[in-house]
Amino acid sequence: MKIAKIETAEVQIPLRTPFKTALRTVDSVHDLLVRVTADDGSVGYGEAPPTAVITGDTLGSLKCAIEEFIAPALVGRDVEDLDGTMTALERCMVKNTSAKAAVDMAVFDLFAQSCGKPLYQVLGGAKHQIETDLTISVNPTPEMVRDAQEAVARGFRILKIKVGKDGLSDIQRLKAIRQAVGPLITIRVDANQGWEAKQAVRIITGMEDAGVDAELIEQPVPAHDVDGLAYITSRVSTPILADEAVFSPVDAISILQRHAADYLNIKLMKTGGIWQALKICNAAEVYGAKCMVGCMLESKLAVSAAAHLAAARGVVTMVDLDGPSLCSTDPYTGGPLYNEGTILMNETPGIGITGVPGFEVTQ
Ligand code: MG
Repeated sequence: MKIAKIETAEVQIPLRTPFKTALRTVDSVHDLLVRVTADDGSVGYGEAPPTAVITGDTLGSLKCAIEEFIAPALVGRDVEDLDGTMTALERCMVKNTSAKAAVDMAVFDLFAQSCGKPLYQVLGGAKHQIETDLTISVNPTPEMVRDAQEAVARGFRILKIKVGKDGLSDIQRLKAIRQAVGPLITIRVDANQGWEAKQAVRIITGMEDAGVDAELIEQPVPAHDVDGLAYITSRVSTPILADEAVFSPVDAISILQRHAADYLNIKLMKTGGIWQALKICNAAEVYGAKCMVGCMLESKLAVSAAAHLAAARGVVTMVDLDGPSLCSTDPYTGGPLYNEGTILMNETPGIGITGVPGFEVTQ
């Protein structure tokens, strides 16, 4: 099965409520879609969001990377030669990890279809279902408390609370949320690079003393400040999760060797797709670290590729795949079933998404 054609389209889906972090505010998913067609007529789909503040991607740069660099390098290649195809994808240009991720997942979709199995099984997995958290955006405390209570009422048992914009007052904010949702809900805290190292130690220690009982603190300091990350990790008892600090397998190994973080957050848009993400899973296993699989503001297509990865690997013990739950509508057909906190994997071959809007119908 050879790659015959790689095409792009756009999808736009309004969010249920604006998504606010220490870095940005967004009110809709507006992503680039990819369709890879094989010479036997079968198709694989992928998606990439333009997350300029984290990956540097825009819709235009994603489209240009795929059409002018990636497609010429991959068209004509054999899908079953996954190693050769993925090496060509990695080497055709540097960076541009989101564009690569969209094509990587579409090729994996085709590969798994050619095996006649759902992708998570092709990747060696057997988890039929996984549990995701839901993100609570940064807002005034009463609004965040209300959003957290609503999420719990919807059935989410794990919340990811965005902080990092207000320094020490984050302690009171988190304490209020903990009191509102009770002790049984798991709380993850994501500062999105919003603190500096010593301030972070003070805030996290304050949270521990206030009884917030956070499962982890995600990316407390700027991505480049790995020294700061290591400083915090060695001084607080709450586990630290590296997110923006770890894009590639090389980043992951560097963080693991220094024990600059306790956990790693793998996102396909940072790694450049599943092929590279698997290397991070393997490295984490070697070092005895646990992984989260997360997403950017992605709709069900890209999130489903990530869900297959999460369902495939035991080292992935945390899932942050709430993109579909944040979207107001679902324009796709097929794929895993998203029922609030529970993601039930599809048993159809590939990623499982068969209906994707925006592409011309082929016979
Ligand atoms: Mg994060």
